[in-house]
Amino acid sequence: MDHLWTPWRYRFLQEPQPNGGCIFCDKPAEQRDAENFILHRAQHNFVILNLYPYTTGHLMIVPFRHVATLEEAGIEVRAEMIELAAQAEQLLRAAYRPEGLNIGLNLGKCAGAGIAAHLHLHVLPRWTGDANFMSVIGETRVIPEDLADTYAKLHQGWA
Ligand SMILES: [Zn+2]
Repeated sequence: MDHLWTPWRYRFLQEPQPNGGCIFCDKPAEQRDAENFILHRAQHNFVILNLYPYTTGHLMIVPFRHVATLEEAGIEVRAEMIELAAQAEQLLRAAYRPEGLNIGLNLGKCAGAGIAAHLHLHVLPRWTGDANFMSVIGETRVIPEDLADTYAKLHQGWA
């Protein structure tokens, strides 16, 4: 891997969307959850692995409805997002023993949202030194685990 991503300024997918569609609308509609790394479907939101993780276990909680802001999402969707974040926290702690976690939203392009039109809540485990690891050793950032392995671990936890 020779990638350089920062947690709040990543791009979810570099590949263009053929239909000009929204990846957070398209992926759950495809009904291929394992291939799309969708870990869990709740009532109002789904949980999906970030294809370009900042750290192992980097996932996102996303409303099924195409909304850009917490305000538009409404109280039920928001409440469930936080509940799912709590479940993610628990599963990530059990699977990866992180020293901390980042849980956050970027609303709008200038705030770092890769896909500003569709709200998504990042949850990622953190370890001391993970952010400056790359600057210490130079060009290469090591993502230590394959996404399929991450999927298997976390999907089991939700199932
Ligand atoms: Zn969408």
